[in-house]
Amino acid sequence: MSASGGVWTNWARNQSVRPVRVERPRSVGAVQRAVVSAGKAGLRIKAVGSGHSFSAIAVAGGVQLDLLDLAGLISVDPVLGRVTLAAGTRLFELPRLLEPHGLALANMGDVDRQTISGATSTGTHGTGGRFGGLATQITALTLVTGDGTLLRVSETENAELLPAARLGLGALGILVDLTLQCVPAYLLRAVEAAEPLEEVLDTYLDRSENPDHFEFYWFPHTDTALTKTNTRLPADAGRSPLGRVSRWVDDELLANGAYRAICALGRLAPRAVPPFNRLATRLSGRREFTDVSNRVFVTRRTVRFREMEYALPREQVPAALREVRALIEERGWRISFPIEVRSAAADDLWLSTASGRDTGYIAVHRYFREDPAEYFDAVEAIMRAHDGRPHWGKLHDRDADSLRQSYPHFDDFLSVRDRLDPERRFSNSYLERVLGR
Ligand SMILES: Cc1cc2nc3c(=O)[nH]c(=O)nc-3n(C[C@H](O)[C@H](O)[C@H](O)COP(=O)(O)OP(=O)(O)OC[C@H]3O[C@@H](n4cnc5c(N)ncnc54)[C@H](O)[C@@H]3O)c2cc1C
Repeated sequence: MSASGGVWTNWARNQSVRPVRVERPRSVGAVQRAVVSAGKAGLRIKAVGSGHSFSAIAVAGGVQLDLLDLAGLISVDPVLGRVTLAAGTRLFELPRLLEPHGLALANMGDVDRQTISGATSTGTHGTGGRFGGLATQITALTLVTGDGTLLRVSETENAELLPAARLGLGALGILVDLTLQCVPAYLLRAVEAAEPLEEVLDTYLDRSENPDHFEFYWFPHTDTALTKTNTRLPADAGRSPLGRVSRWVDDELLANGAYRAICALGRLAPRAVPPFNRLATRLSGRREFTDVSNRVFVTRRTVRFREMEYALPREQVPAALREVRALIEERGWRISFPIEVRSAAADDLWLSTASGRDTGYIAVHRYFREDPAEYFDAVEAIMRAHDGRPHWGKLHDRDADSLRQSYPHFDDFLSVRDRLDPERRFSNSYLERVLGR
């Protein structure tokens, strides 16, 4: 996210806005006052996190709230292993905050630049068929609602709101704190390998359940999947981390540096993309290492891209991916960015992409200087035919009428929105599209 000349831009540089004003509250009371004064001025108000959403979900044209000063650990319950965090806390701050208490997040996504509120509000997830996304780890939260009231939602207070408020798209209020259920700190043993795509697709359903965290990348125009398999180990099992040099060569030089060059060249000379992709998969050798969980889950992404990700009933993933492969060949597109496949356990959050069903994810990407529309539109049609649900923070074209068909509790969520934000103080044009007015 960046702001220059008063213009806010998201990470992928496909969304921007010049808010009427930006406020940086230093206390919960200041958040309440900001909501009330925005209301009096007839302005909408919205908190932004790190601007890592590709969709326009975080666009705040009225008052933009930056919660950088509302960050950090508020309290720890060592018996239950729960921590309460101020809403603007960045995920990358968590290891430092949790480690002294012997705690860690149960699962994480690919990067850690997001805020805890932004990540959970859009349903950010990692991989692991027996593990839920980040929002499933929330046990309680505090929101400032449309009239400036502070509302506590937990297992004992307003508990009926939990399935909506834990993953609220920023539509129900401004989160000021979140309580997360953590787990004892653990290590991950990572195995990365290049395997035949067809074999990986044939075994995807089993592998998404066991081992703990399985995902793979498939570079279009190749027959090879790059698999990542992470197994959980106790914290005292013994680390054998990647050396600093090999980590730099693999992750910075090859994954980011060389890849940036490939994407840029591929844009100028699309014919070069298939051989580049084959080369990229050949260069990706087998790696094994064991490290603390966050250092294995998280990678650095410095090549900018645009992304669409769909959540499917898990058993649909192999067929859907084969259809995407056939589509790319049929249309003759040259796609330099890999397709990423992950999984998550069914959960009970009303607007979670994994709500009520074991889920597999297929994510498509394009380099940020390429127009993704034709590719994403065609892939979206395949995903819809497989009963897919789009990631709320990534690009998609769905509207409220079509999303209602995908979520059994869609109207229950809208009732909560009517209750907490009847005047639509927290809305924007994206929320109007996906939730209705
Ligand atoms: C490089 C990259 C890697 C990514 N990897 C993954 C991944 O592995 N898995 C995955 O699922 N997604 C991934 N994403 C998507 C990303 O996790 C989500 O879009 C996430 O929402 C971004 O968090 P943020 O803090 O940047 O929030 P923003 O994008 O700034 O905001 C997201 C939403 O949260 C709301 N919000 C923020 N703070 C508050 C608050 N205090 N109260 C109420 N609402 C609030 C905003 O209003 C908005 O509606 C990735 C994105 C990028 C750019």
